[in-house]
Amino acid sequence: MEEKKSVVTMDKLVNLCKSRGIIFPGSEIYGGMGNTWDYGPVGVEIKNNIKRAWWKKFVQESENSFGVDAAILMNARVWDASGHTASFSDPKMDCKECKTRHRADTLIEMHSHGTVNPDKMTNEEMEAYIKEHKVCCPKCGKSNFTPIRQFNMMFETSRGVTEEGQNKIYLRPETAQGEFVNFLNVQRTTRAKVPFGIAQIGKAFRNEITPGNFIFRTIEFEQMEHQWFCKEGTDHEYYEQFKKKAWDFVVSLGFNPEHLRFKDHDKLAHYAKSACDIQYLFPIGWSELNGIHNRTDYDLSRHQEYSGKSMLYTDPVTGEKYIPYVIEYSIGADRLMLAVLSEAYDEETLENGETRVVMHFHPAIAAYKCAVLPLQKNLSEKAKEIYKMLCPEFMCTYDEAGSIGKRYRRQDEIGTPYCVTIDFDTLQDNTVTVRDRDTMSQIRIPVEEVVPFIQKAIKF
Ligand code: ATP
Repeated sequence: MEEKKSVVTMDKLVNLCKSRGIIFPGSEIYGGMGNTWDYGPVGVEIKNNIKRAWWKKFVQESENSFGVDAAILMNARVWDASGHTASFSDPKMDCKECKTRHRADTLIEMHSHGTVNPDKMTNEEMEAYIKEHKVCCPKCGKSNFTPIRQFNMMFETSRGVTEEGQNKIYLRPETAQGEFVNFLNVQRTTRAKVPFGIAQIGKAFRNEITPGNFIFRTIEFEQMEHQWFCKEGTDHEYYEQFKKKAWDFVVSLGFNPEHLRFKDHDKLAHYAKSACDIQYLFPIGWSELNGIHNRTDYDLSRHQEYSGKSMLYTDPVTGEKYIPYVIEYSIGADRLMLAVLSEAYDEETLENGETRVVMHFHPAIAAYKCAVLPLQKNLSEKAKEIYKMLCPEFMCTYDEAGSIGKRYRRQDEIGTPYCVTIDFDTLQDNTVTVRDRDTMSQIRIPVEEVVPFIQKAIKF
C-alpha cells in the first residue's frame, strides 16, 4: 500500500495537471491567487464525470431521492438560523514577526505530526500548547504569535445599487442550507414520504487562509451533498447506512479500500448527534475526503424559528406531525478529484527501460474514452471519418502529431482508456487496432464494433 502511494507526490500531480490541461493555477498570468485553481479541457471532463457518477448513485439510482439546484446567494437570515453568522469561524493567530496568518489548530497538528488532536482543545489550551512547545511559524521559523482570534470564514458581499441601500449578504459556505429551505417545496411537489432525500451539487465559498495543498482546500469549491430526512428513532440506522453508501461509492470508482478509513469526530459540531469522516491516504497523508453527519432536527427547527414558517411534516397514514431528523452526506467534488488523481497515478518501467506515467482512471471517469490515432498522416482522412463517427457517442480526442509511441504516452498520462489506431489494413478491411491503457495489449476489431466495445467498458 505504502509502496504504491509513495510513487505519487503532490508536486508530480501539480506538474502533470498543468502540462496536460487538467488543472491550471488560478489567474496565473497575474501571478496567481492563493488557493484558486482553474480546470482545463481535460480536467473539466474528469470533474464532470465525477459529478455525474455521484448523481447517478445518489439521485438516479436512489429510491426517493430528488435533486435541487438552489441559489448561491441566499437571504442573510438563513445564515443566522444555521449558526454560520455566529460561529462559522476558525481559530487564527498572526505571526508578529513576519505578519502571516495561521490556523492555531493546524499549527499544532503540524508540529505534533498529528499525534495531538487540537479539536479537543479550547483556545486557551491551544495558546498554552503553542507557547510551551515553542511551535514555530511555518513561514519565518519564529515563535511569536498574537493571541487566538476567531475569524468568520464566510465571504461577504452586498446587494443594492446605492450605498445606503446596500445589504450585507454572503456567498454560501455550504450547499446544505439550499436543501433545508426547500424541504417542504420538494416534499409537496414530489409527494415524497419521509424518509426521503434531497441532493445538490454546487459551489460553496470559504475564506480559508490555510495553505491549500493544491485542490485539497480552496476558497471556492463544489460540494456534492445529500440530505436524508427521516423520523427520529430511525436516524442511527440511516447514519450507518450512509456511512456504507459513501464508502461503497468511492470504492466503486476503483479506489483501493486500504487507502480509505473511517474517522469519528472527536468534537461534535453544535448541530450534530454523531459525525464521522471518510479519510483518504492523500499524498499529504490521511485527510478528510467526506463527512457523514447526523444533524438531528436542528436545521429545520432553526429555519422554522427564524422564518416563522412551519417545517412540520405530516405523516399521511397516522396524521402525526413532526420535524424530521437529517442524515447528511457531504463530499467536495474537487477534493474527490484530487483523491481520484492521486489514486490513479502510477509510474511503470517498460521493457526498454523507459518510465511510463499512466493514470488508471475508472473508464467512466476518464476525460476521453478513446483517442483516434492514424498511424501515419496520410491516413488522416479515414481516421477523421472514424473520429466523427465516435464523437456523438462519447468524448473522443484525435492526435496525429509525433510518433505513435509518443502519442500513446500522452494518452496514458491523461488516462484515456482506449486508443483506436488506423493503419493501412483499415483501408482494406475496415478494421482498427484497439489498445488498452492498462495492459497495453492490442486487439483488432471491425470499425462497427468500436462503439459497443467502448460503451460496455465505460459503463458505471
Ligand atoms: P475541513 O475539516 O477539511 O476544513 P470540513 O469538516 O469543514 O472540512 P465540511 O464542512 O464537512 O468540511 O464539508 C464537507 C466536504 O466539503 C468536506 O469533506 C470536503 O470534501 C469538502 N470541503 C470542505 N471545505 C473545502 C475546501 N475549502 N476546499 C475543498 N473542499 C472542501
